[in-house]
Amino acid sequence: MSAPAEAIPRDEPYVWLTWLAPWVSGENSCDWAVWFQTNYYRFEKLEGGDFTTWRADHTKLRRETHQALNADGYRVKIENQNKFSARHEDSPAVVIGGTPDLLAFRDDDAIVLELKTGKPRAWHSHQVLLPMALLPRSNRAEYEDVRFRGRLIYKDGPDRDFSPREADELYERLPYFLNVLAGPDADVHRVPSYEECRYCPISSAYCPERLAPDARG
Ligand code: SF4
Repeated sequence: MSAPAEAIPRDEPYVWLTWLAPWVSGENSCDWAVWFQTNYYRFEKLEGGDFTTWRADHTKLRRETHQALNADGYRVKIENQNKFSARHEDSPAVVIGGTPDLLAFRDDDAIVLELKTGKPRAWHSHQVLLPMALLPRSNRAEYEDVRFRGRLIYKDGPDRDFSPREADELYERLPYFLNVLAGPDADVHRVPSYEECRYCPISSAYCPERLAPDARG
């Protein structure tokens, strides 16, 4: 077996919403897993499981939600149309990227929607709240004056709704976390546990404290 490629640092820290939300919510405890992916863009990632069934269920839920919104008079934007990059003005070193499932607009109403086919998890709320606050800062031409509300839709219910005030409160707390991600390796902890290591894409070649086999899921 050949040696793993050396991890290559990013030009600047970049964190993806689906790494950030589980960590900020406290659902994932390993600081280093987020820090490493934020600061290194090229390393040999462990492959995830087979998401074929999940993708089909998610696409069906997305189409049905899209149709229901259209029937209620909303204009809808979908996934890659919603891709954004934003910085927090109080911790601008880190770029935050994300792709909300749906954005819906009708008159003065604007909604960030996230769709889930599995069980409710604490971090799903953060996955809605963060883009509610970040989208107006990412695309000022289109969204600067928009106050997004949020909705989390589960295939088997119940749905959850979020107010702009909740997004503002989370946004105020974000610099603490972004400063950790922009800081040095020495200030972040590896927190190995079988539950987190088994889903982590960072192999034992980069993380010697990994507790699960070098496979995901
Ligand atoms: S393998 Fe485990 S300890 Fe290492 S970064 Fe991933 S979650 Fe953390």
